[in-house]
Amino acid sequence: QEAQLRQSQKMDAIGKLTGGIAHDFNNMLAVVLGGLELSRRGLDAGAQRSEVLRHIDSAHEGATRAAALTRRLLAFARETAVDPVTIDAATLFADMADLLGRTLGDGVTMTFEDASRGWTAAADLVQLENGLVNLAVNARDAMDGRGTLTLRAEAITLAAADAGALTCGDYLAIAVQDSGGGMTADVLERVFEPFFTTKPVGKGTGLGLSQVFSFARQFDGDVRIRSAPGAGTVVTILLPRAAAAPAAPPAPEVVATPAGA
Ligand code: ADP
Repeated sequence: QEAQLRQSQKMDAIGKLTGGIAHDFNNMLAVVLGGLELSRRGLDAGAQRSEVLRHIDSAHEGATRAAALTRRLLAFARETAVDPVTIDAATLFADMADLLGRTLGDGVTMTFEDASRGWTAAADLVQLENGLVNLAVNARDAMDGRGTLTLRAEAITLAAADAGALTCGDYLAIAVQDSGGGMTADVLERVFEPFFTTKPVGKGTGLGLSQVFSFARQFDGDVRIRSAPGAGTVVTILLPRAAAAPAAPPAPEVVATPAGA
C-alpha cells in the first residue's frame, strides 16, 4: 500500500517535471522561431544587415538556452545534483535584460530597481532565469503587449507575523510587477495548481507559476502574489539570504556592460 503511494507520488513528480521542461523548452523554441521568422521577413524586405543579424543572434541565444536545458535534464537523469550558485540582483538583471526585453516586445517599457543592498541567495540559476521568463510571458499576456514591467530586487526581513510557511529572517526578494489586467480572487486562488490556466488551448499550459513555486520551495523560499482586477500584478520570489562569503583574494576585474547599453 505504502509502496504504491510512493510510486504514484513519484510518477506525479516525474509528470510535473516533464511538463515543466516541455513548457520551458517551448518558450525557448518560440524565441528561435521568432528570430528565424523575423530574419526571413527582414531579408525579403531588404532590411539592414545589422537588423537581420540581430534576429539571427536572438534565435541563436534561444537555441543555446534550449541546449543548456536539455543538458540539465540529462544531468538530472544521471542524478547529478544541480549546484546552487550565488545569485545577486545586479548580475541577474544585467544578464537577463536582453532576453526579457525580447520576451516582452517593443510595446512594454521595462524598468529595473535594485534595492537588494548587495544581499545574495543560493539557488539554481537556470531555474531562476526560466522562472523569470515565465513571469515575463505572463505579464506580457496580461498587458496585451502594452504597458510597464518593473523588475525589483529587495532586501526583506520577515518577522513571525508575515513569515507564513517560511522561517523568520532575511530574504532576497525578486519582484515582477506588471500593469496588466490583474486577476480575480477565483483565479488568484488557483494559480499555483499545475495545469490551471485561463489561456486558450495551445497558448497556456498552466505550468508556469507552479514551476516557479516548486523552484522557490526547493531552495527554502516562497512565491507571493498581489493582484486585483484592473490593478496589475506583482509576483515576488523570496529566497533565503545567503551568508556573506568569506573574503576571497581579489579576482581580476571584469567589467560587465548590460547588452544594448
Ligand atoms: P499559463 O501562463 O500557462 O496559463 P501559469 O501557471 O503561469 O500558466 O499561470 C496560470 C494563470 O494565472 C494564467 O492562465 C493567468 O490566468 C493567471 N496569471 C498568471 N500571471 C498573471 C499576470 N501577471 N497577470 C494576470 N494573470 C496572471
